[in-house]
Amino acid sequence: MSELRSALDELTGIAFGDLSEDALLDLVGDLSVTANRVAAALTSAVRAADRREAYRRDGAVSMKAWLRGSCRMAPEQATATVSTGRRLEQLPETAAAFASGEISAAHARVITRAMTPGRLAKAADAGIDLGLTDGILADLARATAPNETARGVAQWVAGVDPDGTLDDAADTRRRFTMASGLDGRVHVRGEFDAVGGEYLHTALVALMNGDRPAGDARSHAERQGDALVALARGALDAGGLPTVRGERPHVRVTIDLMALCAERGAPGFSGGSLGWAGPINPETARRLACDAGVARILTGPSGLPLDVGREQRTSTAGIRRATEIRDDHCVFAGCDAPPEWCDFHHVVHWAHGGPTSCDNGALLCERHHTGCHEGGFTIRRNPGTGRWRTYRPDGTEVLSRAGP
Ligand SMILES: [Zn+2]
Ligand SMILES: [Zn+2]
Repeated sequence: MSELRSALDELTGIAFGDLSEDALLDLVGDLSVTANRVAAALTSAVRAADRREAYRRDGAVSMKAWLRGSCRMAPEQATATVSTGRRLEQLPETAAAFASGEISAAHARVITRAMTPGRLAKAADAGIDLGLTDGILADLARATAPNETARGVAQWVAGVDPDGTLDDAADTRRRFTMASGLDGRVHVRGEFDAVGGEYLHTALVALMNGDRPAGDARSHAERQGDALVALARGALDAGGLPTVRGERPHVRVTIDLMALCAERGAPGFSGGSLGWAGPINPETARRLACDAGVARILTGPSGLPLDVGREQRTSTAGIRRATEIRDDHCVFAGCDAPPEWCDFHHVVHWAHGGPTSCDNGALLCERHHTGCHEGGFTIRRNPGTGRWRTYRPDGTEVLSRAGP
């Protein structure tokens, strides 16, 4: 890398205006090939980090999120780099053409985007030789601009995955069940007609494309699960749902006051419980109670309610808004989840005397709020610069890797 850097330094020292036209055109050609090779190396390195889930070291939820947060990469580019890297593994000819700089990242993207796992499976079923396809498309990419390559790729797609799956169009039944299991998890099953599924999918994709960093989500299924929860939270927060027994529907957590005030990880305390889903562990109860927007019921030793923290909701709305304006997004390092996905985190928990104030508040998305309670990460705001800093459980700081 240091040799590459000094070569680039030398390059920026060249007075391009002094070169002959031939030399200039040669240089542009060489640089274009070199840029392709660097893009291919970047894609391979991203793939290696993605495979090893190295991004978790910085508390990021996915390689894509890490690229956006730590390298300030545009979302489309982050998606393209991660996805191209994954799919090139099955396309050695295309990968080799990219690595040697003969084709660009745009060519590689056009080819890999079409090579979905579903289509590869269909092609295999139809007896289409993937190696042959890979070679043909790589040759096409070597000879044409990306838009022309795309037309060749479209022909392959039309052969493998022609439209015309109008089966079972009449069945519009929908089923959806959820049950709270003995394992402390909620189990969901369901089945939809195409139209109903399309509505659900459209809403979920909109939330997933915002790259919501929640839970330990990584796989498509996990991100989809988070999006479904976000959909429900958004509907509850928007206040447009029908009232239930004269009240706006809301999530309620019941927690023992002693358990709430105990230090993180202190043994011997029972957790809290949720109205429908049942018992939750103490850290999770503390996290839910941390956000002033969740209705909480505190109970004493006898299990009788001491305080129902609902009246706080209106008085804290202004503080929350002020915090949203100051923080703008989740303050965890490298995360830019927007305010509507964020909880209001008390840096010093209110159960330990921390006030519900702008000074003691921070926006954290659900994933990073979980990281700070259950996961042991901490965030602190530098009073001088006003910048948030994030620390791992071992006390080391999570820093941006994009350089100064
Ligand atoms: Zn919190
Ligand atoms: Zn976050």
